[in-house]
Amino acid sequence: MWQVVGQTKVVSLLQRSLEKGSLAHAYLLIGPAHVGKMTLALNLAQALNCEATQPPCGECAACQKIASGNHADVQIIGLTSDGNSAEAKPRAEISIDQIRQMQHVASLPPFEGRCKVFIVDGAEQLSHEAANCLLKTLEEPTGRVIFILLTLNERLLPPTVVSRCQRLKLRPLAATEAEAALNSGWGIEPQKAELLARLSHGCLGWAILAASDDGWLQQRTQQLDRLLDVINADYEERFAYASQLAAQFSQNRGWVQETLDLWLDWWRDLLLAKVGCNDTITNVDRSATLIDMARGYNLAQIKVFISNIQAAGEYLRLNANPQLVLETLMLSIPGKKGEVGEIPLPNLR
Ligand SMILES: [Zn+2]
Repeated sequence: MWQVVGQTKVVSLLQRSLEKGSLAHAYLLIGPAHVGKMTLALNLAQALNCEATQPPCGECAACQKIASGNHADVQIIGLTSDGNSAEAKPRAEISIDQIRQMQHVASLPPFEGRCKVFIVDGAEQLSHEAANCLLKTLEEPTGRVIFILLTLNERLLPPTVVSRCQRLKLRPLAATEAEAALNSGWGIEPQKAELLARLSHGCLGWAILAASDDGWLQQRTQQLDRLLDVINADYEERFAYASQLAAQFSQNRGWVQETLDLWLDWWRDLLLAKVGCNDTITNVDRSATLIDMARGYNLAQIKVFISNIQAAGEYLRLNANPQLVLETLMLSIPGKKGEVGEIPLPNLR
């Protein structure tokens, strides 16, 4: 059974190709983080090496070895796959040496299975030389070897590499589909499953990780409470908040971007509440607060502030001064009752 949830189109295409023996020798799986790319790639590796009559069974020795990362013919190449030492730091890019090593292993016959499978995780992080080196392999397919490249964004890959792979797009699940999977497949209680499904924006892997981390929802509660304080605070407190975020930026960019995503979700929710689409709110556990708060703003104020949050995120990605960007964003939080509080950030495009 295929373990990946949803993705029916992609799975049935692969299933048909497997049955007809017409699989491509290279696939490019495209989709956002935690949408299920690695699960699908491992499922395909299982299907190719499964010993049961209806592959992938998930239970035979081959399927289990692949699931636990112990099958000699299935390898994952990525930023963290280099070196066995616990102290080995993640690489900044996937190197040409990693690809050459992969090519060497690919040239040998399968060791214990029927087909060798190489999964390149985060293919957008291939160095220029590594991508060129991989291209040669993709141009000269050999039997019993399949390459599966995973990427968040195919535009960051050389078009020559993309054109030699069969492209498969994985789309985020509908909130109801993710909720049902969390509830029935992972035994998560209904209320928590609904909230995590919405917060995941359809990327089930994220929801599963968040569910397994007890502190995550608690941390979100604290962050949301702080966000509400800041919205209602005076300029002095808003600037203090901007300074705190900016100070974090040099050490943990990801955390600052996640905080901005939290702001974005909150203001999108205000927009949805404003236009009466309460059923599609992300922060579903705070619906009452959102509906009440939305009455204090007009639609234009909410829209402008949403663009400001998006622009601030773009500026940070382009290495603008974080203190300046975040202070400007905090200044532009709209005032209640239609006051003109917005100072739109300049458009980047
Ligand atoms: Zn099996």
